[in-house]
Amino acid sequence: MLTDREPRKSALLADFVKSDQNRILTLPEDNCFVAMAGPIESSLESAAAASVRLASGEFLGALAAFYQVEPPLIRVLAARPLRTREGGWSTELFGDYDRESKSIRVWMRTAVQKRVTSYGTFLSTLCHEFCHHLDVQLWRYHDTWHTRGFYERTAALYHHARGTPAKRLFWIGMPRRRWRIDWLRTNRGF
Ligand SMILES: [Zn+2]
Repeated sequence: MLTDREPRKSALLADFVKSDQNRILTLPEDNCFVAMAGPIESSLESAAAASVRLASGEFLGALAAFYQVEPPLIRVLAARPLRTREGGWSTELFGDYDRESKSIRVWMRTAVQKRVTSYGTFLSTLCHEFCHHLDVQLWRYHDTWHTRGFYERTAALYHHARGTPAKRLFWIGMPRRRWRIDWLRTNRGF
């Protein structure tokens, strides 16, 4: 995971810095998100797109109610497209968020083998895309970037919803003021 480049426009840069420094996401004290995420796992096992969509919509609705924002729209699509990146790397697209229509798209099958996405990947994608929605709807940033703060808020939400302990993320500085996660230190916890 690599953070985005800083925007050039100073008005956007101010929001980028705010997003980067915003490291803490308020979470419910009870396990209501875990309870709402549970049906997503069983719906993926059934591989029925309609029930995956329903369970995902209810989960996102619960998140939106907690953060007091409008619920995003959700579309669950079949096989993921392949996206070609610089250097010829082809990565699978897991999901995306459209700010204009406030909608999240997630793919429930892998691009090549057309297998149903694992629950962990699917839930993490929903949490990631929902955090883009929060950037715009809750924090009112003028855009939504993958900053260190963004990845930390996303990880906190995912671990809370999955019922797994959150790890502290450690970062390594990269050229042009970008950052990537130091997985060795993150997994060791120090
Ligand atoms: Zn993203």
